[in-house]
Amino acid sequence: MSFDSLGLCAELLSAVSSKGYTTPTPIQTQAIPVIFEGSDLLAGAQTGTGKTAAFALPIVQRLSENIPEGKRRRPRVLVLVPTRELAAQVSDEMQSYGRRLSLRSTQIYGGVNIQPQIDRLHRGVDIVVATPGRLLDHAERATINLSKIEFLVLDEADRMLDLGFIDDILKVAEYLPAKRQTLLFSATYAQNIKKLADELLDKPRHIEVARRNLAADAVTQVIYPSDRKLKREMLSHLIIEGKWEQVLVFCRTRYGADKVTAELLYDGIKAAAIHSNKSQSIRTRTLGEFKRGELRVLVATDVAARGLDIEQLPHVVNYELPQVAEDYVHRIGRTGRAGEAGIAISLVAQDEQPRLAAIEKLLTYAIPRKRLAEFPLIVFKKVVSARPLRTANEPAQAKKAVARPAKAHTVEKKSSDKPKKVQKSTKSRTVAGRKAVTKKVKVDTGRPAPKTGRRGSRS
Ligand code: AMP
Repeated sequence: MSFDSLGLCAELLSAVSSKGYTTPTPIQTQAIPVIFEGSDLLAGAQTGTGKTAAFALPIVQRLSENIPEGKRRRPRVLVLVPTRELAAQVSDEMQSYGRRLSLRSTQIYGGVNIQPQIDRLHRGVDIVVATPGRLLDHAERATINLSKIEFLVLDEADRMLDLGFIDDILKVAEYLPAKRQTLLFSATYAQNIKKLADELLDKPRHIEVARRNLAADAVTQVIYPSDRKLKREMLSHLIIEGKWEQVLVFCRTRYGADKVTAELLYDGIKAAAIHSNKSQSIRTRTLGEFKRGELRVLVATDVAARGLDIEQLPHVVNYELPQVAEDYVHRIGRTGRAGEAGIAISLVAQDEQPRLAAIEKLLTYAIPRKRLAEFPLIVFKKVVSARPLRTANEPAQAKKAVARPAKAHTVEKKSSDKPKKVQKSTKSRTVAGRKAVTKKVKVDTGRPAPKTGRRGSRS
């Protein structure tokens, strides 16, 4: 299969080839024809599969076939994403295809001054890539006109629900025309995703691409049982002795990320942290430095790192295991991208055993344990049975890992894209949502209902 045979126009074929893509990925092969056909789409695919191009290419082409007359462009595409970083990434990709066809894309997210976004929207754009909270602010202030939206894309929908965005997404949907094409991308199909799809999609076509990360073919995984107090030294040791050029280190909390960063700097290793307590300009600058190879270590929390596309990252370290097993899969997906070999190392302390057991249960296999000769041997007191079926890096069984809704999901509470209430009563607005619903929609985000915050502080 070639990009040619997918029916892409000359401008997009040239854009794709200038990015160095020679053949479409499975999600592109399957999704592009469905999008061209005009059907709604429910796609099981995660970051790293090429899903952004899978929706960006056909959407951009469709838009270019019918550029409206008139002075000011109104948004015709709305892409909702869970994080600011993903908004920037997806918008850049949209822009890189769209500019060849005279289309303009913009990104909307919280944590930054709203006025430049208002100005940009006022000048006119075709494509808006946004986090739900700030987008809703714009919709409620009437600084964005969503009445001409032809395509709604929910990217990383599972993650948006994890972050408690269900309420905002459904409210945003009320501002959209009922006649539109809706595409939902999610790495998992938990019950709450099915409910969201029932609300927003109309007779969707289903596509599921292999969960590359769960098969973990390109990623070698290792567990180093660790004394919590020695993790810092182990990390510096691994980086220095292994002569690692670049590594992404995951911590569970913002405080933890800052602390590890300070300690790496103390050891003479150039590091910086990225998390939601950092201003957007610092986050963008740090990411840029890391991508240019000017930083050796990027220390990140799950929310900040979600969706980051950093090419050919050879090492990922879980300094602490995530609270939610699926985040482990997302984390290790940062390495071994596009067929490159990658190593994912987890430093696991005794008290992280239950989390490790949950991860291995999700993966359906045990991750090999190793020891660093320079550090004391740690034998976990009680190994919780994870019903391991095989060892990591052996071929995956046909049995599919079942994704379970998260229980106590610890996410960064601050700022912008704040978690919202999990229960919503949709209003009866025929124009707005796909369906004029009056019933109560209860979607289980898998998290306890968070406290509500000031509207103005979101996104
Ligand atoms: P995504 O799933 O959209 O985050 O994409 C993951 C990575 O795959 C990005 O670095 C893309 O540049 C890359 N990519 C997307 N499509 C292709 C393709 N057809 N061939 C090779 N790499 C691709």
